[in-house]
Amino acid sequence: MPATTMDQLVSLCKRRGFIFQSGDIYGGLQGVYDFGPLGVELKNNLKAAWWRSMVYERDDIEGLDSSILTLRTVLVYSGHEDTFTDPLVDCKKCKNRMRADQIVDGKCPQCGSTDLTEPRDFNLMFKTNVGPVASETSTAYLRPETAQGIFTQFKNVVDSTGRRAPFGIAQIGKSFRNEITPRNFIFRVREFEQMELEFFVPPKDDEKWHEFWKNERLKWWKEQGLKEENIKIVAVAPEDLAHYSKATYDLYYNFPIGYEELEGVANRRDYDLGNHTKGQKDLELQAHVHPNKDSTSKLALFDDETKKWYVPFVIEPSAGVERGVLAVLTEAYTEEELPNGETRIVLKLKKHLSPIKVAVIPLKRNQPEIVKMAHDIKASLLKTGIGRIALEDSGNVGKAYRRHDEVGTPFCVTVDFESIEQSPATVTVRDRDTMQQERVKVEDLPEYFKRAFL
Ligand code: ATP
Repeated sequence: MPATTMDQLVSLCKRRGFIFQSGDIYGGLQGVYDFGPLGVELKNNLKAAWWRSMVYERDDIEGLDSSILTLRTVLVYSGHEDTFTDPLVDCKKCKNRMRADQIVDGKCPQCGSTDLTEPRDFNLMFKTNVGPVASETSTAYLRPETAQGIFTQFKNVVDSTGRRAPFGIAQIGKSFRNEITPRNFIFRVREFEQMELEFFVPPKDDEKWHEFWKNERLKWWKEQGLKEENIKIVAVAPEDLAHYSKATYDLYYNFPIGYEELEGVANRRDYDLGNHTKGQKDLELQAHVHPNKDSTSKLALFDDETKKWYVPFVIEPSAGVERGVLAVLTEAYTEEELPNGETRIVLKLKKHLSPIKVAVIPLKRNQPEIVKMAHDIKASLLKTGIGRIALEDSGNVGKAYRRHDEVGTPFCVTVDFESIEQSPATVTVRDRDTMQQERVKVEDLPEYFKRAFL
């Protein structure tokens, strides 16, 4: 088990405004969380890092933002309506509801009774109706994964960008699963975000690309601050594979609850594109239209060498944003014993993930010259584009340092009497991790921080 406990994280997240229970004032909605003032920054920074590494740094990936409300037909042909289920078991004695795999030695984990119902399949998708009349034909779902939006827009993306395999489509967005037992803070929730890449490759190259993406994803998580020793890569056993998968690697992280899945890297074969092509054909047949013989209307790519159409295989790295946030918080949370016997809580987040990049602290909140200089420094740092700069005018420097250590702010700039008396003006820059302070000229601050956040 890692040193960080879930209680430490839950407490910090509430105390400092990272994560709150949804509907808190009415007792809370189970398995749903809201991201507070600092949580939204952390989450956005993690998503931005993913987007940058996928879409900006590579030349073979396009982005997409598809809708959450999903046509029922899409999820029929993707197999989700039939197979996206968990086995649900009820304890007849204490009424506990659980997934069949949570039963311990044939007993209810809550009361120990063996009087349990037979497992029955429970579909995890949230169903809704589009339009004013609820009927079979108006049924839609909240998407259970972002991937289907990518598969159904495959042709539009290919036609509008002229892409040839290998190439990918990346998407970040909300997904919904009516989990039987949401638990462990934001680890298993009913509403969450996924960062998914569908990377389309010629079928003969699938295994090579599967290995490639497994390695890339491990590298990326290490860049987000996770130590390799806290990550395990597991090849999913054939009997545990999802309905679409030929092979899957799961990246497990050493969460406070032990090693659990952070990201899956699946080889989804031609399952989805193939099924949606079949779906289109079925609809054409139902409408008594001869299936369109023109392959370009199908979800396929043209092979310039063989001059034939083929359905590409797809490699899918799929990561949960909430699990990512939980992992980086677990890794970053540190309690240090100070020489004076006090304990310092410090969130040693990678700088690019920190919700606040620099806190500017005027030593005295009622000294107009000091306050003005602090404002001017904030404005000049904001222009560098490094991210959120906070003006911290509580008037208590010690308290401000403690607060910014706890929320992972890499630097604090303190404007004091020397700053306004000296020419050229200087300020103190304090480093979060080393607590070292150095005097820096105010005019040099933008360059100083630009370099620090490179
Ligand atoms: P698990 O086995 O933990 O239920 P899964 O194998 O069903 O997860 P995938 O369908 O592979 O998950 O989804 C890809 C990623 O989405 C997961 O690795 C995880 O990070 C995230 N994810 C899936 N379900 C949830 C959930 N209920 N809450 C938070 N994140 C989730």
